[in-house]
Amino acid sequence: MIPETILSSQDLIQMEDKYGAHNYHPLPAVLSRGEGVYVWDVEGKRYYDFLSAYSAVNQGHCHPRIINALTEQAQQLTLTSRAFYNDMLGKYEKYVTEYFYYDKVLPMNTGVEAVETALKLCRKWAYEKKGVATNEAKIIFVSGNFHGRTMAIISGSVDPSSTKGFGPYMPGYVIIPYNDLDALAEALKDETVAGFLVEPIQGEAGVFVPDEGYLKKAYELCKDNNVLFIADEVQTGIARTGRLLATCGNCSCNNGCENNPEVKPDILILGKAMSGGVFPVSAVLANDEIMMCIKPGEHGSTFGGNPLACAVAMAALDVVKDEELAKNADKLGAMFRSRMQGLVDKSDLVTLVRGKGLLNAILINDTEDSSTAWDICMALRDNGLLAKPTHGNIIRFAPPLVMTEEQLNECCDIIENTILNFEV
Ligand code: PLP
Repeated sequence: MIPETILSSQDLIQMEDKYGAHNYHPLPAVLSRGEGVYVWDVEGKRYYDFLSAYSAVNQGHCHPRIINALTEQAQQLTLTSRAFYNDMLGKYEKYVTEYFYYDKVLPMNTGVEAVETALKLCRKWAYEKKGVATNEAKIIFVSGNFHGRTMAIISGSVDPSSTKGFGPYMPGYVIIPYNDLDALAEALKDETVAGFLVEPIQGEAGVFVPDEGYLKKAYELCKDNNVLFIADEVQTGIARTGRLLATCGNCSCNNGCENNPEVKPDILILGKAMSGGVFPVSAVLANDEIMMCIKPGEHGSTFGGNPLACAVAMAALDVVKDEELAKNADKLGAMFRSRMQGLVDKSDLVTLVRGKGLLNAILINDTEDSSTAWDICMALRDNGLLAKPTHGNIIRFAPPLVMTEEQLNECCDIIENTILNFEV
């Protein structure tokens, strides 16, 4: 093996380019260390991380409590598969179901696997409980969604970069516009509809926040029609939006909302920050009426619910509560949007800021296919802050939630100075 110390950023980029599939287009920053809100590249330059691995690193890079849980458990037991019991899974299941107020959890690894799991669970419920005829169940998706990259999931996407060249697609989906209650009410008239899958805020699409009351009303419509409301909180969950869950409504307590959430999804899908970005951990939560529709042998994963994942997830979720990350995201998010609104007023380049908590985006005044947003992200990189465009001219800003006010203000200064000095 070549000693890493002699490889520059350029060498490492070329290596990825030569030996790795070209299924991503990374910003050229080659990172080798992370701590809290900071990451360092191989040449030792320090950056503020304003992406947090797509909101997986909410607790900050290499949080000592999470890393401690990982290393302790790694020396004890890492994987048993579900062929046997282990001494961590039951404890984790109790912990996580009490944390989010559901009867049961089905542990998986990546976000997309958890979404797939939720879809299977929904179909099973439709046949066993709702009485939909065999193979007739439908699930409603919304346009602009992003739920991952597997065949079943891209079949519900309208984004050509997700779908083009990958057909034929999975049947049984209905796609309606996001944030459109009339379209939902119409689609729900079909009695074979079993579920409605929705992101409370569409992160990948460019941080689209639906109208106030959309989720609540959508939930009520689902209830009226005996349809499962399935929330994909893989990106919005775990305190990112200033709430433990984006479906918590206006409560920014860090305890979840036992009695009065805005919406209590029938099926809740979580991933990413469940492990603080330390290990792939995802989960599907539901009550018995739904979860018990899946029987032994009907679904699973070799790694799902492994002891290492259990230890890491409990530590990561402890950190969210103990460090009151929802409250911090709520407070810092408001500050961030107010600073960015100032930039919208001063600069012709930025037309809009939107978001909730520390999941925000600015809109660059240019066509979708221009390179301006990318070029701004390159300039931000040079000035010590890492962010990435999403969908052409939108830049998403999602720093770790452990950021301080002082750090946030410094970051806003960097963004402001970069954009005000940017020449198209
Ligand atoms: N769901 C949402 C809302 C996401 O944002 C993502 C990833 O960005 C996924 C699902 C897929 O997660 P993963 O990449 O871990 O499979």
